[in-house]
Amino acid sequence: MAGEALIELRGVNKYYGKLHVLQDIDLTVGRGEVVVIIGPSGSGKSTLCRTINRLETIESGTITLDGTPLPDEGRALAELRAEVGMVFQSFNLFAHKTVLANVMLAPVKVRKVKKEDAARRARELLDRVGLASQAEKYPAQLSGGQQQRVAIARALAMDPLALLFDEPTSALDPEMINEVLEVMQQLARDGMTMVVVTHEMGFARSAANRVVFMADGRIIEDRAPEDFFTAPRSDRAKDFLSKIL
Ligand code: ADP
Ligand code: MG
Repeated sequence: MAGEALIELRGVNKYYGKLHVLQDIDLTVGRGEVVVIIGPSGSGKSTLCRTINRLETIESGTITLDGTPLPDEGRALAELRAEVGMVFQSFNLFAHKTVLANVMLAPVKVRKVKKEDAARRARELLDRVGLASQAEKYPAQLSGGQQQRVAIARALAMDPLALLFDEPTSALDPEMINEVLEVMQQLARDGMTMVVVTHEMGFARSAANRVVFMADGRIIEDRAPEDFFTAPRSDRAKDFLSKIL
């Protein structure tokens, strides 16, 4: 059903010691929606991503994934967490494994998929991110943009319900940014549910259903991209946009 909530955070609070890093976060991501999170450095964007995946504990609030509240720990949490793929700024590929082996690894180890089936699927995914011819190479033989596309294929290999991207192009040379954004645009068009922390405002404008602006651990604005970019309401957002646009 369109518009159904896939990821839902209600009243989420998190502290690092005395630092109240996430404050009363309410966020709903519908199935097939692309939500772009922007905001100044230190505003809690990465923490929010890790919290959605419960790589971080929270002090209060609830996080629901596809209607199921995330448990605090244990096997059930690991299983739910595997439903949400993450793509980081640093690609975190295994250097001593081929591209193909990197993409096959989690399905074989975690899901116990047969190697030949995982390899077939990995080749399909590498084709989808434009890297079919690079399967036997090692990460160091690829450009940064290609490595990040491998990381996306690897995340897709687990057939996640949703993908989280934390500044996926920030570590890339400028000429490699677009090849990664194009893969993400295509995923969005294919209906993948995505939460994307990025400073790429062109991507936000063209791919996002909503832009969430964070500052000091709070969500300050949560709006359609054209509304946000043409008429930001808060002084914090106006100030932020004046610096980056
Ligand atoms: P952003 O991704 O928006 O730059 P972060 O979520 O990385 O922000 O960080 C938000 C705040 O939490 C910052 O003040 C940061 O210094 C702090 N912080 C992040 N991770 C930790 C940690 N593991 N321990 C203590 N403080 C942290
Ligand atoms: Mg960050």
